[in-house]
Amino acid sequence: MSKKIQAIRGMNDLLPEQSPTWLYLEGTVLRLMGAYGYDQVRMPIVEMTELFKRSIGEVTDIVEKEMYTFDDRNGDSLTLRPEGTAGCVRAAIENGLLHNQVQRLWYTGPMFRHERPQKGRYRQFHQIGVEAFGLDGPDIDAELILMTARLWRTLGLSEFVSLELNTLGSSEARVAYRAILVDYFKSHYDQLDEDSRRRLESNPLRILDTKNPEMQALCEAAPKLMEHLDAPSREHFAALCAFLDDAGIAYRVNPRLVRGLDYYSKTVFEWVTDKLGAQGTVCAGGRYDGLLEQLGGKPGSAVGFAMGVERLVALLDELTEVPRGQYRPQLYLALAGTGTERAGLQLAERLRDAVPGLRLQTHCGGGSFKSQMKRADKSGAEWALIIGEQELAEGRVVFKPLRSEGEQERLDEAGLIARLQGLLGA
Ligand code: ATP
Ligand code: MG
Repeated sequence: MSKKIQAIRGMNDLLPEQSPTWLYLEGTVLRLMGAYGYDQVRMPIVEMTELFKRSIGEVTDIVEKEMYTFDDRNGDSLTLRPEGTAGCVRAAIENGLLHNQVQRLWYTGPMFRHERPQKGRYRQFHQIGVEAFGLDGPDIDAELILMTARLWRTLGLSEFVSLELNTLGSSEARVAYRAILVDYFKSHYDQLDEDSRRRLESNPLRILDTKNPEMQALCEAAPKLMEHLDAPSREHFAALCAFLDDAGIAYRVNPRLVRGLDYYSKTVFEWVTDKLGAQGTVCAGGRYDGLLEQLGGKPGSAVGFAMGVERLVALLDELTEVPRGQYRPQLYLALAGTGTERAGLQLAERLRDAVPGLRLQTHCGGGSFKSQMKRADKSGAEWALIIGEQELAEGRVVFKPLRSEGEQERLDEAGLIARLQGLLGA
């Protein structure tokens, strides 16, 4: 035997046992997006490296050390997308979606970051992203948050997540605050760790986001951007809070919430949980008005968020009962004896015609009646349909409950169809 080839570290297969939770989450999100009038977009997984450098920022963890970047055969530097917003904005500009128009968009798919793999942190992971363009008021910020709150309610996760909110102000206000912050950290230079010393010049706000426990007190005591806000940002934030209060959405204002990407201004938010250890952020987003111009578009408004699918799936599996039934067959058709396979395959097609939505798995590959019934059980089906030589001769099918006590019945085809329609509410 040849040596086995293994998957790349941090890039996972999704196996049949796990997929019902994914399907359930994706199906719920699909309906949610319909409920709010958002249109789906799909972007390429690979983009020009320049796109991410210019949007996410040169001195962010993502661009400095996490991107999968390679040269294409013709020498272009390409990158596997580490997040979706940059590509979505690029696509919206390129395809003329932003000319004085409002766009409410969403997408889902894999993202790639070369991080240290651990629970809730992978090198290929999946996001569901939502972006709204052309709206500059706090009402749309509120809508996005209401939408996520509704999702948690639908999924039964509300009690496990909480909302953190902050505002980063205008870029002008941030420049002024940056100087104040740099002064503060410089006067405590001996307490800064190596990362923070590096960031002091390049990106001092990110110091506030440090995960180093020894720097917590220093960061807590730092001057707050909230106290140096420009008036429009202050009003925007107050109005957003009022919308959330109206909707009864609880939140905590966290002045240290700065986010790991450079393109945010004004509103930023995260939904966090204490049920996943250190990887506690399940959804993160905010306003990024400046990015449109930065990527060559006209000045405009933009706000969005991204959810981490693996982390939500982990929460669902650990804390809720995911309805799995709809992802299993309802019936398993066992075929034992000469001639039953030909008749069975045709019957199965007629049943699927007659009962739309029916989930029927047909036994293939022969074998004893006993082994077929084992497979029927393993399939998760509620009922077995059995055709043996005797049933074939009589034009009947045995209909046998697999999970309940009921008696088995012998039905002709019309009777069977009526029975299935009744059972499945068709
Ligand atoms: P974190 O602070 O957990 O590293 P982040 O700020 O880097 O998150 P974003 O870039 O805002 O995350 O991505 C949005 C969401 O995508 C995160 O809240 C998280 O749920 C998920 N996510 C980010 N990186 C990973 C990863 N490597 N593996 C799995 N999920 C991830
Ligand atoms: Mg990160």
